[in-house]
Amino acid sequence: MYRLVCVKCGARYPPDAILYNCSACGHLLAVEYDLDKVSVDRAVWDSRPLSVWRYRELLPVNIPPVTLQEGGTPLYHLKRIGEELGLPHLYAKHEGMNPTGSFKDRGMTVGVSMAIQLGKTTVACASTGNTSASLAAYAARAGIPAVVLLPAGKVALGKVAQALMHGARVISIRGNFDQALEMVHELCLTHGLYLLNSVNPFRLEGQKTIGFEAIDQLGAVPDRIVLPVGNAGNISAVHKGLKELLALGLIDRLPMMTGIQAAGSAPIYRAICEDLPEVVPELHPETVATAIRIGAPVNAEKALTAIRETGGTAGVVSDEEILAMQKALARREGIGVEPASAASVAGVKKLLECGAIDRDEYIVCVVTGHLLKDPETVIRQCEPPLEINADLPSLVSALQSSSS
Ligand SMILES: *Cc1c(COP(=O)(O)O)cnc(C)c1O
Ligand SMILES: [Zn+2]
Repeated sequence: MYRLVCVKCGARYPPDAILYNCSACGHLLAVEYDLDKVSVDRAVWDSRPLSVWRYRELLPVNIPPVTLQEGGTPLYHLKRIGEELGLPHLYAKHEGMNPTGSFKDRGMTVGVSMAIQLGKTTVACASTGNTSASLAAYAARAGIPAVVLLPAGKVALGKVAQALMHGARVISIRGNFDQALEMVHELCLTHGLYLLNSVNPFRLEGQKTIGFEAIDQLGAVPDRIVLPVGNAGNISAVHKGLKELLALGLIDRLPMMTGIQAAGSAPIYRAICEDLPEVVPELHPETVATAIRIGAPVNAEKALTAIRETGGTAGVVSDEEILAMQKALARREGIGVEPASAASVAGVKKLLECGAIDRDEYIVCVVTGHLLKDPETVIRQCEPPLEINADLPSLVSALQSSSS
C-alpha cells in the first residue's frame, strides 16, 4: 500500500502514475507507504538471504521481480586504513560486488520490475556509465529493449562495454551528463519510454536497501554513512529507507548522512558549506571520478535535507586524493573500486583532518563501483608489467631489480 508524494508540496498521486515530477510544482516524487499497515517481522527478514528482496515489504513491487541477485554485498572492516587514520571502526560496503559491478543494480531490479508491473515496454536512461550498464543488463533479463544516452568520450571503458554487450541501444551525445538527462527525460515524456534515472522514485526504493543491509551486517546503526555524491539519488535513498525503519521502530536513531564530492564537481558540498537553501549548479563539472561528474544533481534538495536532518556533513576531495585512496584500498585492503567509490573513504580522511569526525565513530563508507569499471584510469596510475625473456635467470634478475 503506497502512493507517490511530491517531496515539496505534498501533492499525492496514485501508485501507478507514470510521473517523475509533481504536476503541481515540478519537484520530485517519492514513494510513501502506509507504514502503520506494513507488517515487518524482524525474524522473517533475518530468515531471508541478505539481498534487496529481503526487505520486500518496504518495496513497491508486487510481481515476481526481474532479478540478477543483487545486494547482499560484503561489509569489510578497513583494518589497515582505519589504523593509519586512527579510526578503529571504519567499514566499507562494497557495492562493486553487485551483478553489474555497482549499486545501480539495486535500483534497477526494482525499477525494471516496476516498468513491467506498469506495463511499460521500453526503458531508457542517461548515464555517466554505471546506470547504463545496469539498465542494459536488467532490460535484457526482462526481455525488453533499453535506450541509453552517454556523454561522448566521458564514460569509463568497462561501463560502455557492458551496455553494448547487454544489447542496449547506446547513443553518445556531444554534451555532458546533465544535458543527456534533460534530453532523455523529454524523450520519455513525449515518446512513452520508461525513464530509469534517479528521478524515478521506484529506482531509489531499491537503493535504500544499502542502509538496511549495512545495519543488519554491523548488527547496529552506524554513527555515520558516507557516500560519494553525483546526482545525489543514493544518499537520498539511503536516508529515506532509514527514516522508514525509524518510523517502524526497527531502529532508534539515524546515522549522520555524509556526502563526498569531487573538487571539480561539488555543488552540494558548496551548498552545505555556505548554508545555501539550494544548490548552484556547476556548469562545467570535471573530475577523474566520472561517475560523480555531475554539475546539476537532480536529487540535490533531498540530499541537503538528508544531510541537515541527520546532523551529517559534506566533504570535498581532489582527484589526487581520490586516486591515492583508490590505490590504498586496493593495496592495503585488497578492495578494488573505481575512482568515484574511493571518494567516500578519501572524504572521511579529509573530514577527520578538519575535525568534523570523531575517532570512535562507527563509519560505513559506501564504495559504489568495481575497480574493473575503469581500467584505463587504473593503468595510468600503475607501472606497466616488466617484460622479460622466457627463462629463469631473467625472471630471477627481474625480481631482484624490482624488489625495492
Ligand atoms: C551512480 C554512481 C555514483 C553517484 O550516485 P548518485 O546517486 O548519482 O549520487 C557514485 N559512484 C558510482 C560508482 C556510481 O555508479
Ligand atoms: Zn509538488
